Amino acid sequence: MGEFDLIARYFTRPSPKAALGVGDDCALLQPAPGTQLAISSDMLVEGRHFFPDVDPFTLGHKALAVNLSDLAACGAKPLAFTLALSLPRVDEDWLASFSRGLLELADAHGCELVGGDTTQGPLNICITVFGEVPVVAGRSQALLRSGARAGDDIYVSGTLGDARLALEALRGRIALPPALLSDARNRLEQPTPRVALGQALRGVASAAIDVSDGLLGDLGHVLRLSKVGASVEAPLVAGLMAVTRHPEWSSELLLSDTLQEYVLAGGDDYELAFTAPPSAREAVAEAARQSGTPVTRIGAIEAQPGLRVRGADGQLLTRRYASFDHFG
Ligand code: ADP
Ligand code: MG
Repeated sequence: MGEFDLIARYFTRPSPKAALGVGDDCALLQPAPGTQLAISSDMLVEGRHFFPDVDPFTLGHKALAVNLSDLAACGAKPLAFTLALSLPRVDEDWLASFSRGLLELADAHGCELVGGDTTQGPLNICITVFGEVPVVAGRSQALLRSGARAGDDIYVSGTLGDARLALEALRGRIALPPALLSDARNRLEQPTPRVALGQALRGVASAAIDVSDGLLGDLGHVLRLSKVGASVEAPLVAGLMAVTRHPEWSSELLLSDTLQEYVLAGGDDYELAFTAPPSAREAVAEAARQSGTPVTRIGAIEAQPGLRVRGADGQLLTRRYASFDHFG
């Protein structure tokens, strides 16, 4: 199978929302009147972001999910995406599963595959997503990292730490019961981008980011761009690892310090961390209800620079948590 047959068979779909999809030199997008385009790219590299033997269905899902997560963090509505794919060889079973995982998630979010590039080389997947954000009275409704203000509450959606737990288990560093590993692995390999929550938070949240490299590190980006500091209450975050509610969970599986590290700095969670003034608590709860996404209040923005983590006794934790940095 040649390059063009491969594109035609696995990556050419009807794209009714786009003015022009796969096939020409450029795709053409028509954002709705009164909207801005939100654009983001994420690359997944074999050996760096996924194991070589990962299920191609989940890989297709994750490649798009991490991009949709960026749209969610901006409060954007998914519109379309492009796929740049480097493949060592044509493996039709692999391609069929990969494109199914990718396109099922795309369909679920009405995000159309409108173009891309296909070359031979080491397995590498780069997706660029395009989303729409309304502009109201000349003001973009996009959620930014720079909007947090002293006194705002800090929230995080969903669960944290499970993906890191699965990663450590798959690397053979931790032993887990199979049913529990399977649930944690699902969080690592098929993250849920919080697209509906992100849109529901427009006009409610003061700042937002998606948690890809670990909660504290990503929250640090918000603090830096907003020129504020924060306190996070470790006990409020500690319960956020989903598998601790699994029937086979036992506290003997993981040291509590390690659990705390995974939750605060684990990475690969693809949840939203966001801030909102205390006056918006009811509106935040309504956004959570409306989008069917649990959110937990975990701390507060403060004028004093720096990120402080407080333990159960209110004392500051002194341990530093490194967040993921490819060149760090
Ligand atoms: P060009 O040589 O002009 O870059 P290509 O031959 O690479 O064009 O691609 C032909 C068409 O197929 C283009 O519309 C391109 O966007 C699309 N395309 C290529 N690879 C992919 C892919 N992996 N997924 C979706 N569309 C693709
Ligand atoms: Mg090309």
